[in-house]
Amino acid sequence: MIIILKPGCSSAEEQEIINEVETLGYKPHIVRGVEHVVIGAVGDERSHHTLETLNNFPQVQEVMRVQKRHKLVNRQCHPEGTLVQVGEHRIGSAPIHVMAGPCSVEGEKQLMETAIAVKEAGATILRGGAFKPRTSPYEFQGLGEDGLKLLARAREETGMPVITELLSENHASMVAEYADILQIGTRNAQNFQLLIAAAKTGRPVLLKRGLSMKFEEWLLAGEYVLANGNANLMFCERGIRTFETYTRNTLDLAAIPVMKSETHLPVVIDPSQGCGRAQLVKSACRGSIAMGADALLIEVHPNPAEAWSDGAQQLSIADFRELMQELKPIAAAVGRSIATL
Ligand code: PEP
Ligand code: MN
Repeated sequence: MIIILKPGCSSAEEQEIINEVETLGYKPHIVRGVEHVVIGAVGDERSHHTLETLNNFPQVQEVMRVQKRHKLVNRQCHPEGTLVQVGEHRIGSAPIHVMAGPCSVEGEKQLMETAIAVKEAGATILRGGAFKPRTSPYEFQGLGEDGLKLLARAREETGMPVITELLSENHASMVAEYADILQIGTRNAQNFQLLIAAAKTGRPVLLKRGLSMKFEEWLLAGEYVLANGNANLMFCERGIRTFETYTRNTLDLAAIPVMKSETHLPVVIDPSQGCGRAQLVKSACRGSIAMGADALLIEVHPNPAEAWSDGAQQLSIADFRELMQELKPIAAAVGRSIATL
């Protein structure tokens, strides 16, 4: 930590802070500038008292942190980047994985038809919500365990691993039994008990960015997963809430380079929740790949107009097929490829 004293501080005031730094268990290093005295406090904050309390002294201008609060997810821990293993796939390596499927699992026919079609088009992982976090309690809440069973059946049929949302701590072991990746949704991105429960299942976790989450908060939410013994974490940008209402959310593509520099873990983009309109999804996917996304999470439905949730943003199978072809040259242009099964 660095403590900056106010200009014109007396030597007694300066000494008072130096003494306090030592009392709290840190070694002070004093730098005297033209106007300011700066005290560097050396010590590990995890095993000492916090220095933030120094802000209460009137002669202190600012107490600044040198080390980042996110430690295990920090790229410094693993400069070359971590690959998350999902079945045979390694997310975070040069091949870009496309996870695709319906917003909600609605029934066997809808899921199987979508699963087979997205696989044929080139997706490597099947998505589908069985527990749905709906804004209104009167909207379709998902098929629950029956939906999980259908996802497991679709995996058997297609060989594609499946990703589905974990909505409640109580369901952690049940969802982990059926799913290959646990998705933590935007509404639960800072539900720390849920993050811990997800981590403890040992399944890879995909953590969506909260609706109004700053990068540091998102990184620290991810820190809960690693701190609880699970290093298989992916961060997924899915749009944040801004003043703009033309799009459902504001998809923050700058999150890709920011998160790629802050963390060693893969960064995924969900353009479907991000844009909320099917006609914007293709451009968002192209941009995401150009900006360095490691995977995409895309909603696809055999008949979006009749979908039980998120109809406006789901791609038809034909549009998804076309999109997959369009992504190949963009991946190649940035030295990557689209992963295949
Ligand atoms: C979803 O993937 O269908 C979903 C509900 O996601 P989010 O948590 O990003 O809204
Ligand atoms: Mn959805």
